[in-house]
Amino acid sequence: MISDKRIGVLGGGQLGRMMAEAANRLQLAVHILDPAPQAPAKQLLAAYPHVHASFSEPTAIQQLAAECDVLTVEIEHVDAKALAQVACPVQPAPSTIALIQDKLQQKRHLRSHSVPVPDFVECASVAEAERAGEAFGYPLMLKARRLAYDGRGNAVARTADTCAQAYGALGSGDAQKVGGVYAERWACFRKELAVMVVRSADGQVASYPVVETVQRDNICHLVLAPAEVPSSVADEARRVAEMAIKTLEGAGIFGVELFWMEDDSVLVNEIAPRPHNSGHYTIEASETSQFENHLRAVAGLPLGGTALKVPAAVMINLLGGPGLEEAARASLSVAGATLHLYGKPEARVGRKMGHVTVVGESVAAIMQKAQPILAAIDATTT
Ligand code: ATP
Ligand code: MG
Ligand code: MG
Repeated sequence: MISDKRIGVLGGGQLGRMMAEAANRLQLAVHILDPAPQAPAKQLLAAYPHVHASFSEPTAIQQLAAECDVLTVEIEHVDAKALAQVACPVQPAPSTIALIQDKLQQKRHLRSHSVPVPDFVECASVAEAERAGEAFGYPLMLKARRLAYDGRGNAVARTADTCAQAYGALGSGDAQKVGGVYAERWACFRKELAVMVVRSADGQVASYPVVETVQRDNICHLVLAPAEVPSSVADEARRVAEMAIKTLEGAGIFGVELFWMEDDSVLVNEIAPRPHNSGHYTIEASETSQFENHLRAVAGLPLGGTALKVPAAVMINLLGGPGLEEAARASLSVAGATLHLYGKPEARVGRKMGHVTVVGESVAAIMQKAQPILAAIDATTT
């Protein structure tokens, strides 16, 4: 109807599932490549043939490409080389996915395009990490170059004495397993911010409002939309985020994680070449959700508006753990709340099992309304 392009998605987790929800409403065909036959995204897409194999397996990627007109991703840890060799278009570009997979190359790329980032340096040994500590001071953030998520590729050295220990923690003692290590200057941020940016197939870029993200144990806990920051900071955050995305190739939605620093500068932490946890609120609160705009961009359709259509929204992640069910149930009695459960079979502790978005007149008013949900989470995590 609006597009007969079959869209192949590498990865079938919650981001693929929410893409599928948007695709179903728009009558767009989505085929999923994921090892789990009952992956969250596949549960919603009975009409299409899916591929039950790893998204890092070249033959499986070729099979998906043979059945589709365009490929995209819901996770960046895919085989980017195999993606670069398929016959159909891939959005965003495989070169963009490959660049983002290596967090050190990503930072080098951003710095070379004058996008502000924290100071960083490659550390091929513990001695080099110690030298980075002398240059940047402590605490010092050490990061794995590859396969990072939810802070699992990060280790903090509090003092020079703990550098070796922090370094050894990455890649379980074998830094090469994670493609090597680099060090970053500690960012004493006022707030962590994020901006979703969408780029159409013809190169137009549009950003969503700036939100604040609150992490717990390196995992996103809350997203507050819009972020409470001076308007000059919000403008700068959107400018920096759009500037960063303009340096990358390909269409789709991107999540840009940012630090708002003491001196009011805004630094890029990292970029996700896909829908992002900080953009889930857009389903209920924005003119067009991040998932719909991603599909529109990938399918070559016109982009939808990115403005908020309610004054404010708060997104609360529901992680695996003893408080999960109670928090989900509590959300059913909160005015303005929408519950999303991802259909994951196993509620491992810390795993993203669902989220709740609450809309309202202001972030402060929503935080009041959301107390029963937050209390259920806190009752078991503190
Ligand atoms: P994601 O799940 O977002 O992909 P990740 O594993 O790639 O996470 P980062 O985003 O690099 O990890 O870092 C996780 C969190 O650690 C950040 O959200 C931030 O709270 C903190 N952090 C990262 N870099 C720094 C830094 N240089 N200084 C201080 N804190 C930092
Ligand atoms: Mg990351
Ligand atoms: Mg991150």
